[in-house]
Amino acid sequence: MAFERYALILRSVRYGDDDRVVTFFSLEEGLLTGFARGANATGNRFGAALSPLTFSSLLGRHHTPDSLFRLHKANVIDPFSEIRNDYDKLVWAGLPVRAILCLLPAHVQEPALFELFLHYLCLLEKENSRYGLLWIRFSARMLRIMGFGPLIPVCQGCGLEILIGKVRFDPENGRVRCRDCSRMDGEKSREPVCQADSLRLLERFSGEDLRKSESVVLSDHQESQLLELIDQMISWHVHQWTFSQALPFLKKTPLPVRTGKNEHLSMS
Ligand SMILES: [Zn+2]
Repeated sequence: MAFERYALILRSVRYGDDDRVVTFFSLEEGLLTGFARGANATGNRFGAALSPLTFSSLLGRHHTPDSLFRLHKANVIDPFSEIRNDYDKLVWAGLPVRAILCLLPAHVQEPALFELFLHYLCLLEKENSRYGLLWIRFSARMLRIMGFGPLIPVCQGCGLEILIGKVRFDPENGRVRCRDCSRMDGEKSREPVCQADSLRLLERFSGEDLRKSESVVLSDHQESQLLELIDQMISWHVHQWTFSQALPFLKKTPLPVRTGKNEHLSMS
């Protein structure tokens, strides 16, 4: 018996002359890999429904619970053509695709993340600026849904809430420490350092709907700091994460490009 799956297509690779292997994020089963026989043949039954960044309904089945999802049919629900025709938007759409592919284990149902990603693409499709802010807000929510933070700037050493200045945080277990407690631990820690107010903003965004972006006012400097913080948090979990500010055609920002998770602002 075939099942219908609502899916965002993340990756589509040609297999042999006629077939395709498709990785998609489904509402019902999370990340899955599907096999589409004949998907490269002319006049095939899948049309554009298996192109990356398409929201499609897929009809198919697993032969055994762990086997590839055999695709029988697919229909486009939303092709996100505005994103597809805009190189800048494509890059911002690529960041969550890569994050989800790297962070989400296969076969784990994550409907809240699915809805968030779909909402992100719908907003990116309509949005004409402030793509960076949209990505920041998306990733704050994504990290929270996946259980990786963001973190509240309360020092785990002395229990004080850190209002200004720098904090050291551990992206693995959510531990945050103030300057004094961090000094007592020794300065050799490889945990990232960031501004307490950036952490506070991320924490706020992680609980908010993406829709309210119009009411968010960020300076270019704040936006750069948040982009950098997001990169630090994701790169902690994803080896060789491409830092958003290293992408050459995105808006140039005043902060220097970070090249690795161990290179961070100094605590001094
Ligand atoms: Zn402290």
